[in-house]
Amino acid sequence: MEHNYIQMNQKRDINKEQIYGYVKIEQYDQAKIDRIAGHYEAILADLGEDPSRDGLLKTPERVAKALQYLTHGYDSKPDEILRSAMFKEDYSQMVVVKDIEVFSMCEHHMIPFFGKAHIAYIPNGYIVGLSKLPRVVDSFARRLQVQERLTNEIRDCIQNTLKPAGVAVVIECKHLCMSMRGVQKQNSITTTSAFTGEFANETTRSEFLRLISSNLS
Ligand SMILES: [Zn+2]
Repeated sequence: MEHNYIQMNQKRDINKEQIYGYVKIEQYDQAKIDRIAGHYEAILADLGEDPSRDGLLKTPERVAKALQYLTHGYDSKPDEILRSAMFKEDYSQMVVVKDIEVFSMCEHHMIPFFGKAHIAYIPNGYIVGLSKLPRVVDSFARRLQVQERLTNEIRDCIQNTLKPAGVAVVIECKHLCMSMRGVQKQNSITTTSAFTGEFANETTRSEFLRLISSNLS
């Protein structure tokens, strides 16, 4: 099957995400922040630190706020994000959005993993506003995660909401829980992938993989 391709410049979308991020920062749940900060004060003491020394005085509250930001995906509904910008359109070629930034936290160690996501879908009557795909990635990534589930959740959300002829998701991440502790493999990258529909077809899938590995800049 022949496909034409759309490549998106991600810069504008990333700016949008950052603005979205700053908005979230103003929406802290103070009661929750106070509770989490209390726990972190105890953790600091258990680590042998003095939580009352100058540099650490505000650390429990800072950590609590950072954590609430890093897990703000729990407050969003990725399927609604997609539904808010679905358009009926007679376009049936592969749509590819590559190099979407991913920042997440491994649920086993609560240590960050980060990298890039590449998404493609083949429309089946509907297309989606392209900035929504990075927002869906963010919605699932900003939770406690494992990379395998993150990959499948993004695929399933797009498949079930947009009902395209096929979805492909590839995620490449570096896991600090591997680099900084445990096996200390500094430079290893974990790659996961998930496909539906027409991407079961070898030719379609290799076209997608070729596109995301090519450098267009
Ligand atoms: Zn981990």
